[in-house]
Amino acid sequence: MKLSQRILGLTGGTSDGWELFNKARRMIDDGVAVTELTIGEHDIRTHQSILDAMHRSASAGHTGYAMIPGTNELRDAVAARVFERTGVPTTRDNVLITPGGQSGLFSAHSALCDEGDVALFCDPYYATYPGTIRAVGAVPRAVPCRFENSFEPSFPDIVAKTRDAKTLLVNSPNNPTGVVYSRETMEGIARACCEHDLWCISDEVYDTQVWDGTHISPRTLDGMLDRTLVIGSMSKSHAMTGSRVGWVVGPEPVIKEMINLATHTNYGVPGYIQDAAAFAIESGQPLEDEIGAPFKRRRSLGQAIIAQQNAVGLVPSSGAMYMLLDIRSTGLSGDEFADRLLETHHIAVMPGESFGACAAGHIRVAMTVEDSAFETALHTLVDFAKGVE
Ligand code: PMP
Repeated sequence: MKLSQRILGLTGGTSDGWELFNKARRMIDDGVAVTELTIGEHDIRTHQSILDAMHRSASAGHTGYAMIPGTNELRDAVAARVFERTGVPTTRDNVLITPGGQSGLFSAHSALCDEGDVALFCDPYYATYPGTIRAVGAVPRAVPCRFENSFEPSFPDIVAKTRDAKTLLVNSPNNPTGVVYSRETMEGIARACCEHDLWCISDEVYDTQVWDGTHISPRTLDGMLDRTLVIGSMSKSHAMTGSRVGWVVGPEPVIKEMINLATHTNYGVPGYIQDAAAFAIESGQPLEDEIGAPFKRRRSLGQAIIAQQNAVGLVPSSGAMYMLLDIRSTGLSGDEFADRLLETHHIAVMPGESFGACAAGHIRVAMTVEDSAFETALHTLVDFAKGVE
């Protein structure tokens, strides 16, 4: 059997970063009670009012092929939301509805990169980024976001990587660090894109989860409107991970070509899911705040626990549903730490190495179990770190 190099090479011949997660799932299947602090999945389910809207839509017959670019109602709702949040005039023609942010990332890179083009992304990174870039035939190249620079990309570090590059993928609020890029960082990104003729792909799927400071979309900055594609999603903002609905916002001619790609790949998103998403967006910020509140609360609980000891360091962060912990003083790698913690205490966290070389020696803790279980797990984790020999 001979398969394509493209599919066989998707993970670049290295790990896809999900081993620890898969191991935890196997233990759970075998009946072990594992506290899972791995993937970015809420411990609540999709809000009943959204499910009711989904049901109403399906019962009313919206179960046939839906509009491939997205329904007018949802595209308008996304455009209005983007305008409200950024002040940048945006219409439905700037919006493509996609099966989740992941599909948006793939579509954006497909639209902008030819075979062999270099596509930049910031390290630490969401684990699918390099594989998504390879999936369109482009070559991933990491821009280091250094510990010493609060895990934000600096202008010189971006510029040093721009040779032959077409795109720069940035993600703020960031997974895995929780860092929200400062205005200065975003302006450096914009300057690098303008001076080196790069497209910016801005992954903003955590834009409703900002606990300190302000999220700045690079699309709002000078010279960026016609060189930025923004990736959005209902997964994190509305606990709709399983519904697979997100979007790309960008210049109309690019969206037009991406609609053509959607026709030849996923053929759009089910109509009843789109109606539920439109309902959710139209429900406004109170619903988004309700869904984000547990992470904000657990972040404070977690910060208080980490502040009481020094076996584990906390990477200061301002958003998203994760805490990145510095475990270098234990002498273990993130992989070793996560594996031993899982084996000995049945707590599953993600090794920093799954998110790139810059996150090595760290672990990512998803704040995705209820408060007291979260606190207990963190205390256990800290005690484990203190006892490492
Ligand atoms: N981008 C980032 C940074 C993510 O963390 C995720 C999911 N964890 C995604 C994109 C994809 O999310 P979805 O496809 O569910 O919208």
